[in-house]
Amino acid sequence: MKPSSLYVHIPFCNHICPYCDFPKVVYEKQWAFSYLNSLLSELDSLSLDKLDTIYIGGGTPTSLDISLLDKLLKKLSSYLNEGGEFSIEANPDSLDEEKIKVFSKNKINRVSLGVQSTIKSNLDFLGRKHNYEDVKKCVELLRKHCINNINCDLIYAYNGLSIKDLNKTIEDILALNVPHVSAYSLILEKGTLFYNKGIKEENEDIAASQYEFILNKLRNCGYKRYEVSNFAKNGFECKHNLVYWKDEEYYAIGLGASSYVKGIRSKNTLNLSSYLKNEFKGSYEVVGKEDDIKYFLLTNLRLEDGFPLEKFEQRFSSFDKDILLKKAKKMIDASLLRIKNDRLMATDKGLLLLDYILINLF
Ligand code: SF4
Repeated sequence: MKPSSLYVHIPFCNHICPYCDFPKVVYEKQWAFSYLNSLLSELDSLSLDKLDTIYIGGGTPTSLDISLLDKLLKKLSSYLNEGGEFSIEANPDSLDEEKIKVFSKNKINRVSLGVQSTIKSNLDFLGRKHNYEDVKKCVELLRKHCINNINCDLIYAYNGLSIKDLNKTIEDILALNVPHVSAYSLILEKGTLFYNKGIKEENEDIAASQYEFILNKLRNCGYKRYEVSNFAKNGFECKHNLVYWKDEEYYAIGLGASSYVKGIRSKNTLNLSSYLKNEFKGSYEVVGKEDDIKYFLLTNLRLEDGFPLEKFEQRFSSFDKDILLKKAKKMIDASLLRIKNDRLMATDKGLLLLDYILINLF
């Protein structure tokens, strides 16, 4: 069966954040114009059927000017199934009412806002140009145009972030009453400005205590943690991202975009010049069974409800299921994994120690 989800990568940003490891370049109108032409050629080359989910990420998709944004969304919306989820990432400093009208006109029904913090000193440290007033205005305008499925991203575990500031950011986000919150710890990859400056990641114990603080606070306010970093009110889980976490197949287009189609995991080129010459493909990997099992566990165990053992057995074999259960026993005895309703899942404690669990299961 063909995948029914598509990821679309827009690599442009108005400025570059010092911690960012995503494929991106500073926005130039001329490049954006050429990029869109290549992107739409890649889209055409896929011969897609209708899709249940489309997710436009970046980069900053809202860095595109109105006419390019309209052209992109119009084309993509023609692939969307009735009732499908159509998400776009947006930065509060590059979103205005004109762009939101373009969203609405082209069936966008979920917006993920890169809030990260609502405290000026934290935003300055992270190199973000917006403030809380910008975020509030975006949420009001999205609602005005009937886009109510809104996510706010926040970042924790970095130098200088106190529990007091974290608490204030969460309180500010809660005051917006958005149905979805994502919380990511700051990971500093090689090649980022922070890494080159020698800035270190936050100590593990502090990162874990900040994560637990976020978890408790959001849980107490009616958000369910459905994935280790994602919290939603009932019915507002991100359907597109669930495709990744359930290790199901999906298309992906754009610079550096990774797809998983017909058992092949491909990654597009990271070279913008090549992409603009319509040389899209970078690397691909035909996954053997052992790696396929690893991918399956790596993704599915991030979900709070884990996965049905029957699904694992159908995809692999009863022999593989027996091996998995044998390896899982030690983790179950240590209260890191549990089996409930025939599903294998990580416990609260286990979700904090996923890397350790996975090493023991592989
Ligand atoms: S974090 Fe987002 S806005 Fe900042 S440079 Fe990366 S993709 Fe662009």
